[in-house]
Amino acid sequence: MSNLESIIQSCKEVAFDLDFKQAKAWKGESPGRIVVGYLPIYMPREIVHAAGGLPVGIFGGGDRKPIVKGDAYYQSYICHIPRSVMEMVLDHQMDHFDGFVFPSICDVIRNLSGMFKQHGFGRFVKYLDLPQNFVPEIGGRFYIHEMEHILRYMREVNGKEVTAEDLNHSIRLYNRNRELIEQIYDLREEFPWRLSLEEWYYVLRAGTVIPVEEHNERLHAVLEAIRQPIGTPQDRIKVVLSGAFCEQPAIGLIKAIEDAGCYVVEDDLMLGSRMILGPIDDQSDDPLEAIAHAYLTRSRYSSSIYDVHQPKEDRLEALVQQRNASGVIFASASFCDPSLLDAPIFQNAFNVRGLRYIAFQYSENINQFKVIKEQVGAFADSIKLWEDEPAEVSIA
Ligand code: SF4
Repeated sequence: MSNLESIIQSCKEVAFDLDFKQAKAWKGESPGRIVVGYLPIYMPREIVHAAGGLPVGIFGGGDRKPIVKGDAYYQSYICHIPRSVMEMVLDHQMDHFDGFVFPSICDVIRNLSGMFKQHGFGRFVKYLDLPQNFVPEIGGRFYIHEMEHILRYMREVNGKEVTAEDLNHSIRLYNRNRELIEQIYDLREEFPWRLSLEEWYYVLRAGTVIPVEEHNERLHAVLEAIRQPIGTPQDRIKVVLSGAFCEQPAIGLIKAIEDAGCYVVEDDLMLGSRMILGPIDDQSDDPLEAIAHAYLTRSRYSSSIYDVHQPKEDRLEALVQQRNASGVIFASASFCDPSLLDAPIFQNAFNVRGLRYIAFQYSENINQFKVIKEQVGAFADSIKLWEDEPAEVSIA
């Protein structure tokens, strides 16, 4: 097994360990260490790291967790992730977590945070209201208060006073993490056959459950490996995958998209790990202000952000062009309001602009993809055959 293959294999194991054993082992190595779980999409992991904690992403049980108890907590017509998260926590798979952060994205996540609170899971449960006002004196101040609130919760658990130096050190590590991730995306855009989306997904997702120091080492090794001319180019089109930022599709679906004739060169699967574009100031006397400033001024577009001055359809189109992609695959979790409410905005704009796309829905626990694979295959074939023809334009 090559070094790259063994990194991918170990990332796969750790990324899909629903018992979070690595986090448990990490916590046991030294007194004062804490584990803080967070739900999608984005939370500033730097503050957890600075407080001597390990931020651990919770992305549901996927197709590996049968739901027995979780269904009783939710009505049938909502997405699947809250059921599997409830199942996991009720099965004591997160007993070693000290606290939980639920970033604001939708009512489902808000309700889930309430259930965690009612059950008394962890030492604290924080619903993190991310700012929707982008004026620094308003939204920025508000966001800083939210981060201070999380820091206070963590201090009550391990007593650690977080200094500006601690925060700047953590910011530096996460800056490096984001930099390495973007370098790999850039290289994959040029040579997507060197690292499939499935393989890349394992590596990327592992970064949400292991220490950032360790993830940076793995990313660096992957980057070095795919700088070599490995693999064989296939006759596939380049696409952007959009809308799958919270509940994650099963691995089988990710494979089906590429096997159907696509190279996914951009996606929002682990959007939170890439939310901030470019480095955050790591020399500031007020690092929380630096984190808030970066969020307000340099966030990726997302369904969790309403920024009237930067229409997200323009930003998605720019991403398609930046990645030299031929089209977009809109993949939304069933009943995911944020993704499904954004989709018509994107699709209406793309109809007018003549950009090609296909759309479908999935659920984390369903791994029958024959129909989707056929649809994606037809989409890829139509682009290969008629890429030079203008797309049919329909005015919505
Ligand atoms: S999948 Fe969509 S609706 Fe469900 S919790 Fe996530 S953002 Fe909310």
